[in-house]
Amino acid sequence: MKYISTRGQTEAMSFTDAGLTGLAPDGGLLVPASLPDLSGDLDHLSSLSYADLAFEIFSRFITDIPAEDLRGLVNRAYATFRDPEVAPSVKVGNFYVLELFHGPTLAFKDMAMQFLAQFFEYALEKRGQSLNILGSTSGDTGSAAIHGIRGKAGINIFMMHPEGKTSPVQELQMTSVLDENVYNLAIDGTFDDCQRIMKTLFADVPFKTEMKLGAVNSVNWVRVMAQIVYYFYAGLKVRKACGSENIQFSVPTGNFGNILAGYYASQMGLPVSQLILATNENDILARFFQSGKYESGKVAHTISPSMDIQVASNFERFLYVLMDHDAAKVSEVMKTFAEQGQVDLSGRLEHDAMKMILADRADTHQTSSTIRRVNSEYGYVLDPHTAVGVAVGEQLRNEDPLICLSTAHPAKFVDAIVDAVGEVPHHPVLDALEGAETECERLPADVEAVRRFVKAALA
Ligand SMILES: *Cc1c(COP(=O)(O)O)cnc(C)c1O
Repeated sequence: MKYISTRGQTEAMSFTDAGLTGLAPDGGLLVPASLPDLSGDLDHLSSLSYADLAFEIFSRFITDIPAEDLRGLVNRAYATFRDPEVAPSVKVGNFYVLELFHGPTLAFKDMAMQFLAQFFEYALEKRGQSLNILGSTSGDTGSAAIHGIRGKAGINIFMMHPEGKTSPVQELQMTSVLDENVYNLAIDGTFDDCQRIMKTLFADVPFKTEMKLGAVNSVNWVRVMAQIVYYFYAGLKVRKACGSENIQFSVPTGNFGNILAGYYASQMGLPVSQLILATNENDILARFFQSGKYESGKVAHTISPSMDIQVASNFERFLYVLMDHDAAKVSEVMKTFAEQGQVDLSGRLEHDAMKMILADRADTHQTSSTIRRVNSEYGYVLDPHTAVGVAVGEQLRNEDPLICLSTAHPAKFVDAIVDAVGEVPHHPVLDALEGAETECERLPADVEAVRRFVKAALA
């Protein structure tokens, strides 16, 4: 399988190159040249364990890693999950909750990041290379990346967070990781300062090359690919249990990363009647699927902070589908959007891919009341991101079994849960963090300070 750029100006490359590169050199996103068709194999796939299913699906996308090596990577990645099923589906009233939070950091980013880190270590070792990840985080991504990369050979990670501006739980999840290859940088500034510092250092090509800097951002194909698995895993199991031909999913999203994997699953033969996209008040994606107009606004802060995003970094892969794989048209649309902050694609509303995805938003009030209602009716506590998906899913669902993706454990978002149900949510992993030893470097919001720190650490 080869990987090509959505902008068409990059030569086709192998899976390993695509995974190590992240963004395509022409500025586009890497996508597989074709999607494998699993429709003839659904019975067999429905009987597999999570890791075995992941191996089957990855094998179709990865043709440059020997099967026995790939099996080892997959088994190690998913052995870190606390639930023997890895991603169980739990029946709650008349829908299912697909729990994607049993990994080390209790949020769905572990589903992909655990495998990405295994892949990095393996590919770098094979090539005799090393890599230094530089990232900035407002919460979940940074902690999932740190927990994936900790202790891996050939990789260091420098993760910036705005000091005092991530939740106490999220900060502890990062700073309590004491491995030698993990550097937590608490920046005296905002998340935007962290982003700016990261972009400036990545734009300094000699520095980037000398320091072998890399990223773990959500546009990496490996992350999207890893997320396809749980759609098949849950979809095939629920479909069998309900004796239904089709299933549907509701997905809380911000960057379009999660639901994009669901779209690919539907194109690979999983019988999905519809995908429901749910946003909070940051509803650029919901508006796009309703009107065909893609227009960014100002970021609003909500009780589902991991979806407080206005520009969806994975959108371009979907655009590539909507433009029927015409890379020139994709480049044109992305250019218009970069220049004008908006683009009108209402001419594509009748495209099959647009019709597959229904979308709406749930505001803070609806989210909170959904948490309260589901708790009082069924005794199940939803995290606020999941609640956005459940609220919109219940509105837009059809008759098929509905699977709502749960992207975090409620104990990560204490305030929102206390407000909604009046009780403090707990998880033993988070409780154990209290009083843990931490390590963190405090730095001013200054590019030179971060540059000096990275350089000295790698010297
Ligand atoms: C990252 C994240 C999301 C949004 O995922 P996308 O990749 O933007 O679709 C939702 N919920 C939680 C808890 C997250 O950490």
